[in-house]
Amino acid sequence: MKIRIVGGTVVNEGRSFKADIVTENDRIAEIIEDTKTPRGSYNQEVDATGCFVLPGVIDEHVHFREPGLTRKGDIGSESRAAAYGGVTSYFEMPNTVPQTTTPEALASKFTLAREKSHVNYSFFFGATNDNAPLFKQLDCHSIPGIKLFMGASTGNMLVDKTDSLALVFRTAADLGLPVMTHCEDTALINRNMSEAKKRYGDDPPIALHPLIRSAQACFNSSSLAVRLARENGTRLHIAHVSTAAELELITANAPAEALPQITMEATPAHLFFSDADYHDLGARIKCNPAVKTDADRAALRKALADGRITCIGTDHAPHELADKQGGCAKAASGMPMVQFSLPLMLELVDRKVLTIERLVELMSHNPARLFGVNGRGYLRKGCKADIVIVKPHSPWTVTERTIQSKCKWSPLLGHRFSWQIRQTLCNGRLIYNLGQFDESSRGEAINFR
Ligand SMILES: [Zn+2]
Repeated sequence: MKIRIVGGTVVNEGRSFKADIVTENDRIAEIIEDTKTPRGSYNQEVDATGCFVLPGVIDEHVHFREPGLTRKGDIGSESRAAAYGGVTSYFEMPNTVPQTTTPEALASKFTLAREKSHVNYSFFFGATNDNAPLFKQLDCHSIPGIKLFMGASTGNMLVDKTDSLALVFRTAADLGLPVMTHCEDTALINRNMSEAKKRYGDDPPIALHPLIRSAQACFNSSSLAVRLARENGTRLHIAHVSTAAELELITANAPAEALPQITMEATPAHLFFSDADYHDLGARIKCNPAVKTDADRAALRKALADGRITCIGTDHAPHELADKQGGCAKAASGMPMVQFSLPLMLELVDRKVLTIERLVELMSHNPARLFGVNGRGYLRKGCKADIVIVKPHSPWTVTERTIQSKCKWSPLLGHRFSWQIRQTLCNGRLIYNLGQFDESSRGEAINFR
Protein backbone atom coordinates (compact mmCIF):
# COMPACT_ATOMS: atom_id res chain seq x y z
CA MET A 1 0.00 0.00 0.00
CA LYS A 2 1.49 3.32 -1.15
CA ILE A 3 -0.05 6.69 -0.34
CA ARG A 4 1.20 10.02 -1.67
CA ILE A 5 0.30 13.16 0.29
CA VAL A 6 0.41 15.88 -2.32
CA GLY A 7 0.91 19.63 -2.25
CA GLY A 8 1.06 20.35 1.48
CA THR A 9 3.46 22.31 3.69
CA VAL A 10 5.41 19.83 5.79
CA VAL A 11 6.37 20.96 9.31
CA ASN A 12 9.21 18.97 10.84
CA GLU A 13 12.29 19.55 13.00
CA GLY A 14 12.15 23.32 12.97
CA ARG A 15 11.37 23.73 9.26
CA SER A 16 8.25 24.31 7.20
CA PHE A 17 8.61 23.43 3.53
CA LYS A 18 6.57 22.40 0.51
CA ALA A 19 6.89 18.68 -0.03
CA ASP A 20 5.01 15.53 -0.89
CA ILE A 21 5.22 12.57 1.46
CA VAL A 22 5.06 9.01 0.20
CA THR A 23 4.20 6.25 2.61
CA GLU A 24 4.71 2.58 1.88
CA ASN A 25 2.87 0.12 4.11
CA ASP A 26 3.41 1.35 7.69
CA ARG A 27 6.40 3.64 7.05
CA ILE A 28 7.40 6.94 5.47
CA ALA A 29 9.15 5.94 2.25
CA GLU A 30 10.05 9.36 0.84
CA ILE A 31 9.77 13.07 1.47
CA ILE A 32 9.95 14.74 -1.92
CA GLU A 33 10.83 18.43 -1.79
CA ASP A 34 11.30 18.68 -5.55
CA THR A 35 7.67 18.16 -6.45
CA LYS A 36 8.35 18.55 -10.18
CA THR A 37 9.57 14.95 -10.23
CA PRO A 38 7.08 12.92 -12.24
CA ARG A 39 4.61 11.14 -10.00
CA GLY A 40 5.04 7.41 -9.63
CA SER A 41 2.11 5.10 -9.12
CA TYR A 42 0.33 5.07 -5.81
CA ASN A 43 -2.67 3.28 -4.40
CA GLN A 44 -4.04 6.53 -3.09
CA GLU A 45 -3.37 10.25 -3.30
CA VAL A 46 -4.31 12.61 -0.50
CA ASP A 47 -4.68 16.22 -1.59
CA ALA A 48 -3.02 18.45 1.01
CA THR A 49 -3.17 21.68 -0.99
CA GLY A 50 -3.47 24.62 1.40
CA CYS A 51 -2.81 22.29 4.35
CA PHE A 52 -0.02 21.68 6.83
CA VAL A 53 1.32 18.15 7.18
CA LEU A 54 2.54 17.38 10.71
CA PRO A 55 3.83 14.32 12.54
CA GLY A 56 0.94 12.64 14.36
CA VAL A 57 0.50 14.03 17.87
CA ILE A 58 1.86 11.95 20.76
CA ASP A 59 -0.37 12.70 23.75
CA GLU A 60 1.82 11.78 26.70
CA HIS A 61 -0.92 12.08 29.31
CA VAL A 62 -4.41 10.61 28.94
CA HIS A 63 -6.89 8.78 31.16
CA PHE A 64 -8.96 6.40 29.04
CA ARG A 65 -10.74 4.89 32.08
CA GLU A 66 -10.43 1.24 31.13
CA PRO A 67 -10.57 -1.08 32.95
CA GLY A 68 -13.16 -0.36 35.58
CA LEU A 69 -14.48 3.12 34.80
CA THR A 70 -15.80 2.49 31.30
CA ARG A 71 -19.02 4.42 31.83
CA LYS A 72 -16.77 7.51 31.58
CA GLY A 73 -14.78 6.33 28.55
CA ASP A 74 -12.94 3.30 27.25
CA ILE A 75 -9.89 2.52 25.17
CA GLY A 76 -12.00 2.14 22.01
CA SER A 77 -14.06 5.31 22.36
CA GLU A 78 -11.26 7.57 23.55
CA SER A 79 -8.65 6.35 21.05
CA ARG A 80 -11.25 7.02 18.36
CA ALA A 81 -11.59 10.60 19.66
CA ALA A 82 -7.79 10.78 19.55
CA ALA A 83 -7.76 9.83 15.87
CA TYR A 84 -10.33 12.53 15.09
CA GLY A 85 -7.98 14.99 16.79
CA GLY A 86 -4.81 14.01 14.94
CA VAL A 87 -3.41 12.11 17.94
CA THR A 88 -1.73 8.91 16.70
CA SER A 89 -0.09 7.76 19.96
CA TYR A 90 -0.86 8.09 23.64
CA PHE A 91 0.57 7.22 27.05
CA GLU A 92 -2.26 6.29 29.40
CA MET A 93 -2.33 6.69 33.18
CA PRO A 94 -2.59 4.07 35.95
CA ASN A 95 -5.56 5.38 37.99
CA THR A 96 -7.99 2.85 36.54
CA VAL A 97 -9.78 0.06 38.41
CA PRO A 98 -7.78 -1.99 39.16
CA GLN A 99 -4.90 0.46 39.34
CA THR A 100 -1.94 -0.24 37.05
CA THR A 101 0.40 -0.89 39.95
CA THR A 102 1.30 -4.54 39.32
CA PRO A 103 2.94 -6.16 36.26
CA GLU A 104 -0.25 -8.25 35.83
CA ALA A 105 -2.52 -5.18 35.68
CA LEU A 106 -0.13 -3.59 33.19
CA ALA A 107 -0.13 -6.70 31.01
CA SER A 108 -3.91 -6.85 30.93
CA LYS A 109 -4.08 -3.21 29.79
CA PHE A 110 -1.81 -4.05 26.87
CA THR A 111 -4.11 -6.95 26.00
CA LEU A 112 -7.15 -4.67 26.05
CA ALA A 113 -5.38 -2.06 23.92
CA ARG A 114 -4.27 -4.64 21.34
CA GLU A 115 -7.93 -5.58 20.91
CA LYS A 116 -9.48 -2.13 21.05
CA SER A 117 -7.12 0.80 20.53
CA HIS A 118 -7.49 2.64 17.22
CA VAL A 119 -4.12 4.41 17.60
CA ASN A 120 -0.72 3.54 19.10
CA TYR A 121 -0.57 3.03 22.83
CA SER A 122 1.50 2.62 25.92
CA PHE A 123 0.84 2.76 29.66
CA PHE A 124 2.52 4.33 32.64
CA PHE A 125 3.14 2.06 35.59
CA GLY A 126 1.73 3.57 38.79
CA ALA A 127 3.82 3.99 41.93
CA THR A 128 2.35 3.20 45.35
CA ASN A 129 3.79 3.61 48.84
CA ASP A 130 5.30 0.12 48.62
CA ASN A 131 5.61 -1.17 45.03
CA ALA A 132 9.03 0.26 43.98
CA PRO A 133 10.58 -3.25 44.26
CA LEU A 134 8.32 -4.29 41.35
CA PHE A 135 9.82 -1.73 38.95
CA LYS A 136 12.67 -4.07 38.02
CA GLN A 137 10.17 -6.63 36.71
CA LEU A 138 8.93 -4.13 34.10
CA ASP A 139 10.00 -4.18 30.47
CA CYS A 140 11.61 -0.73 30.07
CA HIS A 141 11.13 -0.94 26.28
CA SER A 142 7.35 -1.14 26.51
CA ILE A 143 6.48 1.68 28.93
CA PRO A 144 7.27 5.41 29.02
CA GLY A 145 7.95 5.44 32.77
CA ILE A 146 6.54 5.60 36.27
CA LYS A 147 3.56 7.80 37.18
CA LEU A 148 3.78 9.16 40.70
CA PHE A 149 0.93 10.95 42.40
CA MET A 150 2.60 13.28 44.91
CA GLY A 151 -0.86 14.80 45.39
CA ALA A 152 -4.16 12.97 45.69
CA SER A 153 -6.51 13.17 42.70
CA THR A 154 -9.04 10.94 40.92
CA GLY A 155 -8.42 7.32 41.94
CA ASN A 156 -6.56 8.17 45.17
CA MET A 157 -3.09 6.93 44.29
CA LEU A 158 -1.29 9.28 46.67
CA VAL A 159 2.27 8.34 47.60
CA ASP A 160 2.93 10.36 50.74
CA LYS A 161 5.50 8.53 52.84
CA THR A 162 8.89 10.28 52.69
CA ASP A 163 10.83 7.01 52.45
CA SER A 164 8.53 5.68 49.73
CA LEU A 165 8.98 8.82 47.63
CA ALA A 166 12.74 8.64 47.86
CA LEU A 167 12.67 4.94 46.96
CA VAL A 168 10.52 5.60 43.86
CA PHE A 169 12.96 8.26 42.63
CA ARG A 170 16.01 6.14 43.39
CA THR A 171 14.67 2.90 41.89
CA ALA A 172 13.50 4.64 38.72
CA ALA A 173 16.90 6.33 38.37
CA ASP A 174 18.68 2.96 38.73
CA LEU A 175 16.52 1.49 35.96
CA GLY A 176 16.73 4.56 33.70
CA LEU A 177 12.96 5.05 33.84
CA PRO A 178 11.53 8.59 33.79
CA VAL A 179 9.18 9.57 36.62
CA MET A 180 6.16 11.67 35.73
CA THR A 181 4.65 13.39 38.74
CA HIS A 182 1.33 14.88 39.69
CA CYS A 183 2.48 17.60 42.10
CA GLU A 184 0.12 19.04 44.71
CA ASP A 185 0.62 19.23 48.46
CA THR A 186 -2.34 17.23 49.76
CA ALA A 187 -1.89 18.22 53.43
CA LEU A 188 -2.13 21.92 52.53
CA ILE A 189 -5.10 21.29 50.21
CA ASN A 190 -6.89 19.42 53.02
CA ARG A 191 -6.31 22.36 55.39
CA ASN A 192 -7.58 24.83 52.77
CA MET A 193 -10.63 22.66 52.15
CA SER A 194 -11.61 22.41 55.80
CA GLU A 195 -11.24 26.20 56.20
CA ALA A 196 -13.46 26.71 53.15
CA LYS A 197 -16.05 24.23 54.45
CA LYS A 198 -16.25 26.10 57.74
CA ARG A 199 -17.12 29.27 55.86
CA TYR A 200 -19.13 28.02 52.90
CA GLY A 201 -20.58 24.66 53.94
CA ASP A 202 -19.96 21.15 52.65
CA ASP A 203 -19.50 21.97 48.97
CA PRO A 204 -17.68 25.32 48.60
CA PRO A 205 -18.45 27.21 45.36
CA ILE A 206 -16.35 26.24 42.35
CA ALA A 207 -14.64 29.65 42.10
CA LEU A 208 -12.70 28.67 45.25
CA HIS A 209 -11.18 25.60 43.56
CA PRO A 210 -7.89 27.39 42.61
CA LEU A 211 -7.64 28.81 46.15
CA ILE A 212 -8.16 25.44 47.83
CA ARG A 213 -5.96 23.57 45.37
CA SER A 214 -3.70 26.55 45.61
CA ALA A 215 -0.61 27.79 43.78
CA GLN A 216 1.31 27.24 47.02
CA ALA A 217 0.22 23.59 47.11
CA CYS A 218 1.60 23.14 43.59
CA PHE A 219 4.86 24.91 44.37
CA ASN A 220 5.52 22.95 47.58
CA SER A 221 5.07 19.62 45.83
CA SER A 222 6.91 20.50 42.61
CA SER A 223 9.84 21.83 44.68
CA LEU A 224 9.99 18.53 46.54
CA ALA A 225 9.91 16.58 43.25
CA VAL A 226 12.76 18.68 41.84
CA ARG A 227 14.81 18.17 45.02
CA LEU A 228 14.25 14.39 45.01
CA ALA A 229 15.12 14.16 41.30
CA ARG A 230 18.36 16.10 41.84
CA GLU A 231 19.31 14.03 44.89
CA ASN A 232 18.70 10.74 43.12
CA GLY A 233 19.68 11.58 39.54
CA THR A 234 16.17 10.76 38.29
CA ARG A 235 14.71 11.91 34.97
CA LEU A 236 11.70 13.93 36.16
CA HIS A 237 8.78 15.15 34.07
CA ILE A 238 6.33 17.30 36.05
CA ALA A 239 2.84 16.89 34.63
CA HIS A 240 0.33 19.71 34.09
CA VAL A 241 2.30 22.63 35.53
CA SER A 242 -0.27 25.30 36.34
CA THR A 243 1.55 28.23 37.98
CA ALA A 244 4.15 30.86 37.16
CA ALA A 245 6.07 30.06 40.36
CA GLU A 246 6.71 26.39 39.45
CA LEU A 247 8.28 27.45 36.15
CA GLU A 248 10.97 29.25 38.14
CA LEU A 249 12.17 25.88 39.47
CA ILE A 250 13.98 25.20 36.20
CA THR A 251 16.02 27.38 33.86
CA ALA A 252 14.87 28.55 30.47
CA ASN A 253 16.22 27.67 27.06
CA ALA A 254 17.41 24.13 27.54
CA PRO A 255 18.98 23.30 24.17
CA ALA A 256 16.85 21.08 21.98
CA GLU A 257 19.58 18.46 21.48
CA ALA A 258 20.32 17.79 25.14
CA LEU A 259 18.04 15.65 27.26
CA PRO A 260 17.35 17.85 30.30
CA GLN A 261 17.03 16.06 33.62
CA ILE A 262 13.89 17.94 34.65
CA THR A 263 11.14 18.88 32.21
CA MET A 264 7.59 20.14 32.47
CA GLU A 265 4.30 19.49 30.70
CA ALA A 266 1.49 21.98 30.17
CA THR A 267 -2.09 21.08 29.26
CA PRO A 268 -4.36 22.85 26.80
CA ALA A 269 -6.77 23.54 29.70
CA HIS A 270 -4.20 25.51 31.71
CA LEU A 271 -3.01 27.31 28.57
CA PHE A 272 -6.48 28.20 27.38
CA PHE A 273 -8.70 28.83 30.43
CA SER A 274 -8.17 31.06 33.48
CA ASP A 275 -10.01 31.53 36.78
CA ALA A 276 -12.29 34.05 35.03
CA ASP A 277 -13.86 31.07 33.22
CA TYR A 278 -15.26 29.41 36.36
CA HIS A 279 -18.10 31.94 36.20
CA ASP A 280 -19.46 30.62 32.89
CA LEU A 281 -18.08 27.07 32.75
CA GLY A 282 -18.25 26.17 36.44
CA ALA A 283 -17.09 22.67 37.34
CA ARG A 284 -16.73 21.74 33.66
CA ILE A 285 -13.23 23.22 33.85
CA LYS A 286 -12.55 21.73 37.27
CA CYS A 287 -9.32 19.76 37.07
CA ASN A 288 -6.40 18.98 39.37
CA PRO A 289 -4.26 21.02 39.58
CA ALA A 290 -6.82 23.80 39.20
CA VAL A 291 -6.94 26.28 36.33
CA LYS A 292 -5.41 29.37 37.94
CA THR A 293 -4.99 33.08 37.26
CA ASP A 294 -4.55 35.01 34.05
CA ALA A 295 -0.96 35.75 35.13
CA ASP A 296 -0.25 32.04 35.55
CA ARG A 297 -1.70 31.35 32.12
CA ALA A 298 0.44 34.13 30.59
CA ALA A 299 3.58 32.66 32.21
CA LEU A 300 2.76 29.17 30.90
CA ARG A 301 2.26 30.55 27.40
CA LYS A 302 5.59 32.33 27.56
CA ALA A 303 7.27 29.14 28.75
CA LEU A 304 6.01 27.30 25.65
CA ALA A 305 8.35 29.38 23.57
CA ASP A 306 11.34 29.69 25.93
CA GLY A 307 11.74 25.94 26.44
CA ARG A 308 10.72 25.47 30.07
CA ILE A 309 7.53 23.73 28.95
CA THR A 310 8.75 20.85 26.80
CA CYS A 311 5.57 18.91 26.07
CA ILE A 312 1.84 19.31 25.69
CA GLY A 313 -0.16 16.49 27.27
CA THR A 314 -3.91 16.81 27.47
CA ASP A 315 -4.60 15.11 30.80
CA HIS A 316 -7.70 13.93 28.91
CA ALA A 317 -9.89 12.83 31.82
CA PRO A 318 -13.50 12.21 30.86
CA HIS A 319 -16.32 12.05 33.39
CA GLU A 320 -20.05 11.80 32.82
CA LEU A 321 -21.59 15.25 32.91
CA ALA A 322 -23.69 14.22 35.92
CA ASP A 323 -20.44 13.79 37.89
CA LYS A 324 -19.38 17.33 36.98
CA GLN A 325 -22.15 19.00 38.97
CA GLY A 326 -21.57 20.83 42.24
CA GLY A 327 -18.64 22.72 43.70
CA CYS A 328 -15.14 22.14 45.04
CA ALA A 329 -15.98 19.04 47.06
CA LYS A 330 -18.65 17.28 44.99
CA ALA A 331 -17.81 17.81 41.31
CA ALA A 332 -15.39 15.34 39.71
CA SER A 333 -12.07 16.73 38.49
CA GLY A 334 -10.97 16.37 34.89
CA MET A 335 -12.25 17.08 31.42
CA PRO A 336 -12.08 15.42 27.99
CA MET A 337 -9.56 17.11 25.68
CA VAL A 338 -7.73 14.58 23.46
CA GLN A 339 -9.84 15.43 20.39
CA PHE A 340 -9.32 19.17 20.57
CA SER A 341 -5.76 19.72 21.78
CA LEU A 342 -4.27 20.14 18.30
CA PRO A 343 -6.82 22.67 16.95
CA LEU A 344 -6.63 24.53 20.28
CA MET A 345 -2.84 24.75 20.16
CA LEU A 346 -3.03 25.81 16.49
CA GLU A 347 -5.23 28.66 17.69
CA LEU A 348 -2.33 29.76 19.91
CA VAL A 349 -0.17 29.70 16.77
CA ASP A 350 -2.66 32.09 15.12
CA ARG A 351 -2.40 34.32 18.20
CA LYS A 352 1.40 34.29 17.85
CA VAL A 353 1.92 32.63 21.24
CA LEU A 354 4.16 30.05 19.52
CA THR A 355 5.20 29.07 16.02
CA ILE A 356 3.82 26.03 14.24
CA GLU A 357 7.35 24.56 14.25
CA ARG A 358 7.43 24.89 18.06
CA LEU A 359 3.97 23.34 18.30
CA VAL A 360 5.27 20.27 16.47
CA GLU A 361 8.20 20.04 18.91
CA LEU A 362 5.88 20.28 21.91
CA MET A 363 3.24 17.84 20.66
CA SER A 364 5.23 15.28 18.63
CA HIS A 365 9.03 15.55 18.70
CA ASN A 366 9.54 16.13 22.42
CA PRO A 367 7.23 13.43 23.78
CA ALA A 368 9.12 11.04 21.46
CA ARG A 369 12.56 12.42 22.37
CA LEU A 370 12.11 12.72 26.13
CA PHE A 371 10.63 9.27 26.61
CA GLY A 372 12.79 7.58 23.96
CA VAL A 373 10.03 6.49 21.57
CA ASN A 374 11.42 4.43 18.71
CA GLY A 375 10.60 5.44 15.13
CA ARG A 376 7.75 7.85 15.78
CA GLY A 377 7.20 11.55 16.40
CA TYR A 378 9.06 12.79 13.31
CA LEU A 379 8.46 12.98 9.58
CA ARG A 380 11.58 11.13 8.50
CA LYS A 381 12.19 8.46 5.91
CA GLY A 382 11.90 5.10 7.66
CA CYS A 383 9.77 6.36 10.56
CA LYS A 384 6.31 4.95 11.11
CA ALA A 385 3.84 6.88 8.97
CA ASP A 386 1.95 8.64 11.77
CA ILE A 387 0.81 11.84 10.09
CA VAL A 388 -1.89 14.48 10.57
CA ILE A 389 -3.04 16.94 7.92
CA VAL A 390 -4.56 20.21 9.17
CA LYS A 391 -6.11 23.12 7.34
CA PRO A 392 -6.23 26.76 8.48
CA HIS A 393 -9.12 29.15 7.78
CA SER A 394 -11.67 26.33 7.86
CA PRO A 395 -14.08 27.37 10.60
CA TRP A 396 -16.26 24.85 12.40
CA THR A 397 -18.09 24.78 15.72
CA VAL A 398 -17.93 22.16 18.48
CA THR A 399 -21.39 20.63 18.84
CA GLU A 400 -22.55 17.54 20.70
CA ARG A 401 -22.54 15.70 17.38
CA THR A 402 -18.86 16.48 16.71
CA ILE A 403 -17.68 15.24 20.15
CA GLN A 404 -16.32 11.69 19.85
CA SER A 405 -15.53 10.99 23.53
CA LYS A 406 -17.99 8.65 25.19
CA CYS A 407 -19.01 11.30 27.75
CA LYS A 408 -20.36 13.48 24.90
CA TRP A 409 -19.63 16.84 26.50
CA SER A 410 -16.73 19.24 26.31
CA PRO A 411 -15.82 22.51 28.02
CA LEU A 412 -15.36 23.70 24.41
CA LEU A 413 -18.97 23.09 23.38
CA GLY A 414 -19.94 26.01 21.14
CA HIS A 415 -16.31 27.00 20.54
CA ARG A 416 -15.54 28.03 16.99
CA PHE A 417 -12.26 26.59 15.71
CA SER A 418 -10.50 27.98 12.66
CA TRP A 419 -8.25 24.94 12.07
CA GLN A 420 -9.68 21.67 10.87
CA ILE A 421 -8.18 18.20 11.24
CA ARG A 422 -8.56 16.80 7.71
CA GLN A 423 -6.80 13.44 7.76
CA THR A 424 -5.02 11.22 10.24
CA LEU A 425 -2.70 8.42 9.14
CA CYS A 426 -1.57 5.91 11.73
CA ASN A 427 1.09 3.35 10.74
CA GLY A 428 0.52 4.31 7.10
CA ARG A 429 -3.20 3.70 7.23
CA LEU A 430 -5.68 6.52 6.57
CA ILE A 431 -7.80 6.03 9.68
CA TYR A 432 -9.58 9.40 9.62
CA ASN A 433 -10.45 11.12 6.37
CA LEU A 434 -12.73 14.17 6.14
CA GLY A 435 -15.25 13.00 8.71
CA GLN A 436 -14.98 9.30 7.83
CA PHE A 437 -13.45 6.97 10.40
CA ASP A 438 -12.03 3.51 9.77
CA GLU A 439 -13.60 1.53 12.60
CA SER A 440 -11.46 -1.52 11.88
CA SER A 441 -8.20 0.35 12.48
CA ARG A 442 -5.95 -0.80 15.31
CA GLY A 443 -2.83 0.87 16.69
CA GLU A 444 0.44 -0.72 17.76
CA ALA A 445 2.22 -0.93 21.10
CA ILE A 446 4.81 1.85 21.24
CA ASN A 447 8.41 0.77 21.58
CA PHE A 448 10.95 2.68 23.71
CA ARG A 449 14.74 2.82 23.56
ZN1 LIG B 1 -3.73 13.17 34.70
